[in-house]
Amino acid sequence: MAEPTGPKIAVVTGASSGIGAAAARALAGAGFRVVGGARRRDRLAEVAEPIGATALPLDVTDEASVAAFVAAVPALHLLVNNAGGALGLDRIADARDEDWRTMWEVNVLGVMRLTRAFLPALIASGDGQVINVGSIAGFETYAGGAGYTGVKHAVRAFTRTLRLELLGLPVRVTEIAPGLVETEFSKVRFHGDEERARGVYRGLTPLTADDVADCIAWAATRPSHVNIDEIVVRPRDQATATAVHRQAP
Ligand code: NAP
Repeated sequence: MAEPTGPKIAVVTGASSGIGAAAARALAGAGFRVVGGARRRDRLAEVAEPIGATALPLDVTDEASVAAFVAAVPALHLLVNNAGGALGLDRIADARDEDWRTMWEVNVLGVMRLTRAFLPALIASGDGQVINVGSIAGFETYAGGAGYTGVKHAVRAFTRTLRLELLGLPVRVTEIAPGLVETEFSKVRFHGDEERARGVYRGLTPLTADDVADCIAWAATRPSHVNIDEIVVRPRDQATATAVHRQAP
């Protein structure tokens, strides 16, 4: 008789807030045993505890932190590379090196580090999946957005390349590309300026983190032979990165 198998393990990076926290909850609800990583341990614990998830410290920009995190998770079926975000809305003429460097470190090198480290275990699982949280910024551009659109274009190229490189191996590769989602994203982008952050969503109905988590959980629960390549999901009030419909106040 075959050994009974336990629940599949899903790793979610950036699980302390926003889409990552919602994805952790949605995946736990779909029967995964979730391991969440992030820098803010208190916030991560608040997400993990009610869903019985494991919370582990993780800074995707720090090689030693990634190594310790990966060592603590010897087996997994699903890696959700969600940690990321934007810094600033400066035009190229005013680009700040530090913001650009951090965006590349978190959104691109972070995704590469976690994927590279977990690939052997994902392949060994016999039914693995990598879900990268990209953005519509991965295929659109807007003035002031070059730092962020550049890194999300890179995530898109990474995802498509990974799918090619894993052809013939039992690992699915998916990108979820959301438009406007109301999370801490804009607060981080505007370096803590909450008023400016609120302005991003004023007069429109943005996506919630749960809306995006729903897409992640759906892609993760298709039959093993079904690879959802990408899901682009926006609010009805948004047609492109810059074409949005706002109600007058
Ligand atoms: P958020 O609420 O700011 O969440 C970002 C998450 O990333 C937090 O949990 C944060 O945790 C984590 N993170 C940031 N730097 C990290 C690092 N160095 N190491 C580990 N974790 C790190 O924003 P969100 O909207 O949920 O963003 C999640 C993803 O969705 C990002 O990749 C973002 O680019 C993408 N996205 C967002 C939107 C949107 O409109 N909100 C649209 C398209 C795509 P700690 O700070 O605790 O480390």
